[in-house]
Amino acid sequence: MLNNLIFVLNCGSSSIKFAILNPKSKKKYLSGIVEYLFLSKTYIKWKYLGTKNKKCIGFYISHKDALNFIFNNVLLECQDVFKHIIGIGHRVVHGGHKIKYSTLINNSIIQLIEDAAIFAPLHNPANLIGIKEIVKKYPIFSKKNVAVFDTSFYQNMPKTSFLYAIPYFFYKRHNIRRYGAHGISHRYVASEAALILNKSFNSINLITCHLGNGASVSAICNGVCVDTSMGLTPLEGLVMGTRSGDIDPSIIFFMHKKLGISIKDINNILTKESGLLGLSGVSSDFRYFEKNYFLKNHAKLSVDIFCHRLAKYIASYMSLMTNSLDAIVFTGGIGENVPLVRQITLLKLSLIGFQIDIHRNSLIKNGKLGLISKDKSHPVLVIPTNEELAIAEETIKIIS
Ligand code: ADP
Repeated sequence: MLNNLIFVLNCGSSSIKFAILNPKSKKKYLSGIVEYLFLSKTYIKWKYLGTKNKKCIGFYISHKDALNFIFNNVLLECQDVFKHIIGIGHRVVHGGHKIKYSTLINNSIIQLIEDAAIFAPLHNPANLIGIKEIVKKYPIFSKKNVAVFDTSFYQNMPKTSFLYAIPYFFYKRHNIRRYGAHGISHRYVASEAALILNKSFNSINLITCHLGNGASVSAICNGVCVDTSMGLTPLEGLVMGTRSGDIDPSIIFFMHKKLGISIKDINNILTKESGLLGLSGVSSDFRYFEKNYFLKNHAKLSVDIFCHRLAKYIASYMSLMTNSLDAIVFTGGIGENVPLVRQITLLKLSLIGFQIDIHRNSLIKNGKLGLISKDKSHPVLVIPTNEELAIAEETIKIIS
């Protein structure tokens, strides 16, 4: 039914995802992505009512220019659908310590998102560009813009998980703690897992692995996230496309004092030049690693380190499962599409009850959902994430 549609905007650090969908019927009318912002060639791909389009929209394109292309070309072309929109949902990575749950956007919320940018320097500023450009372009929706936060899912973590073992003063006075990120995706796949396993959300026990350009693991007990690998910022935890994840903090002092690298440059190294890109020296795109795993030593080593870290997190989160474990869930571009990563990781976990079914695993990719473990193993599921749907569902709740 062409009514009660929501426009979803996920304005990320190097890409912009957008969609128009009906959160009740779950039907997606439009979905699209702008990739390679600020790189030599910026592409947009979109699918409207089943028809796919792809275009290069220019060189070194900024968020604003890409958004203008979406507004003035894609959305104009979709007028028949766009005119049924009743609200706009924005993904925001970090709500800081003041915003806990999804909320209507106004000037004071914009200010709080700006204040929280210190905790998500790659993401919140991009999220804000999306919000500000939409408000400017579509004043008719000025009271119908909703911010949906990745940090919301982590609001009920216990202090044992969210406090760092540094002087308590830094938490009390400066709100330095674990906030987590990717919560929209972890929560979405957890609720899908509950449906698949025929359990209520508040009785589900899972370890969810969102593996995309950014990557994180969450431990969920009785529907509540009790720990997650991303920390004060989305830099902590797993090996990611260009982010280091966990390192000894002393590396920073070494780089600064011994090597004379400025704090700004170290930040850049750890967020944009590390992870798979840093290890391989070639790429942050997992397709490269999948293709070259058996051909190039640096590709194999990078993937092995990625899986080693992931297996360590999963094994440690097993200790947080108070009742039982219903399943491990893999999601995100890598989690959904790369059987090799799931296989290497799960083979490391056989001692704690995981047995991968190699055949099942090899069949699950390209948006398929399924079980990849043997019947006598703890269940392991692959569930495609749908952050756009989760954001649309939150948006309609808030504006109704
Ligand atoms: P994000 O939302 O964090 O930007 P995604 O969840 O889209 O990231 O995941 C991006 C990652 O997933 C990239 O490393 C990309 O190479 C990888 N990826 C996506 N599709 C595939 C595929 N079909 N095969 C292998 N890797 C894939």
